[in-house]
Amino acid sequence: MASHTTPEQKRAWRKTNPTASARHQREYRERHPERAKQQQWRQDLRRYGLTPETFGDLLIAQSGLCACCEDQLLRPHVDHDHETKRVRGLLCNWCNLMVGHAREDPGRLAAGIRYLLGTPMRLDVVP
Ligand SMILES: [Zn+2]
Repeated sequence: MASHTTPEQKRAWRKTNPTASARHQREYRERHPERAKQQQWRQDLRRYGLTPETFGDLLIAQSGLCACCEDQLLRPHVDHDHETKRVRGLLCNWCNLMVGHAREDPGRLAAGIRYLLGTPMRLDVVP
């Protein structure tokens, strides 16, 4: 594909040539693994309405710490409200998994805390 094509033309070509497009993308990733990783990262950020700059601002605002447990962020995950799409903050992997597995339900998380703190078993549910 010629380099002077517009983004719309490229999109249209990819849509009508999915097999060739997938092959081109795979070859590009093999030839330029670091560049491909950077592009994927930028694309992931765009999904949340972020740019590398706004992501950096968020990381600085959180002092490089997880917005939930405040551990040092080694590989930040962008946490967002799945209904409103609003970014809540950057989380460590464990907190991101916790929020996701709890289905973003504060009641479920509170129940988990009570459970972990050893709230006495409800005898009425024991057979
Ligand atoms: Zn955390």
